[in-house]
Amino acid sequence: MKVLLSGATGFIGRYLLDELLKNDHKIYAIVRKFNLSLDSRVEQINLSSLNTLDETFDVFINLAGENIASKPWSEKRKTALYESRIGLTDQIRRNLMNPPKRVISMSAVGYYGVAREGVFNENTLHKAGFAHELCDAWEKTAMLFPDPQAVVIFRLGVVLGVGGALDKMRLPFKLGLGGPLTDGKQWFSWIHINDVINAIVSAMADKSYEGVYNLVAPEFIDQKTFAKYYAKSLNRSAILPTPRWVLNLIFGEMATLLTEGPKITPSRLQEKNFEFEYKDLKAALFDIEEKHQLR
Ligand code: NDP
Repeated sequence: MKVLLSGATGFIGRYLLDELLKNDHKIYAIVRKFNLSLDSRVEQINLSSLNTLDETFDVFINLAGENIASKPWSEKRKTALYESRIGLTDQIRRNLMNPPKRVISMSAVGYYGVAREGVFNENTLHKAGFAHELCDAWEKTAMLFPDPQAVVIFRLGVVLGVGGALDKMRLPFKLGLGGPLTDGKQWFSWIHINDVINAIVSAMADKSYEGVYNLVAPEFIDQKTFAKYYAKSLNRSAILPTPRWVLNLIFGEMATLLTEGPKITPSRLQEKNFEFEYKDLKAALFDIEEKHQLR
């Protein structure tokens, strides 16, 4: 297939590229600047030259976006988060000479806002807040491609793999400083990187995918259990809770993403009988730590 990809240089993008190249897809990556570390088989293009490319892509896979958790959400940061998703997606659509046959665009479980009660599937009414507004606007922008029936949106939980969020947590947990955030009773929606790649590849091949899918593992795990299992995978214990005021001080408004996660279920993927490679958090974390050691 001829694949147009944004966010190829990111955590998910690099795993996806490996998989797509293994299967001989032709990849065009939209990059901000030429990246020497990308495989030489990848055609690198920038946004402004997209309108000179007379290609019809079989699929556009949309991953790009400034990292949501790397800095507190100041007004300036919110604009950057917005522009790098909504602005960029819109620009790509406008700059393409021919519409892609299929669009697979990311979103996040932040769509559901903050709540501890209830089980949220793809149709559950959402709560307000910046994360919701960002995801909602991003999804609506992806739906503006000419054939909305050919648009697939994945609302991702925290993606676990070598790299990404776990890499940021690894050192404090290794030092024995990891533990529950506040009371640890908030829900922690996670997904193994292999399942993210498998879902994207399935949606490329299977035209019956359309609309929004929660891409989270099916078992419900609270944050305290996540901390316990993660520490165990590193041969440590997780006993030190982080109080809410510390999180508020460090993360500001963003702290609610860590302290108020709702239960989210991948109903539509389960209806499709999507086979999760990792349903079990313990197995996922041990697999990742094993791969980390081999790196
Ligand atoms: P990363 O932060 O690892 O990578 C982000 C990618 O987006 C990089 O390729 C980066 O390019 C590109 N990018 C950032 N800002 C811009 C911009 N202004 N213009 C063009 N490109 C830009 O993200 P992940 O791979 O982890 O995630 C991919 C997507 O999935 C993200 O949009 C994220 O919000 C979403 N998601 C991820 C989750 C996770 O746990 N990983 C959870 C929920 C959602 P460059 O190399 O130039 O910086």
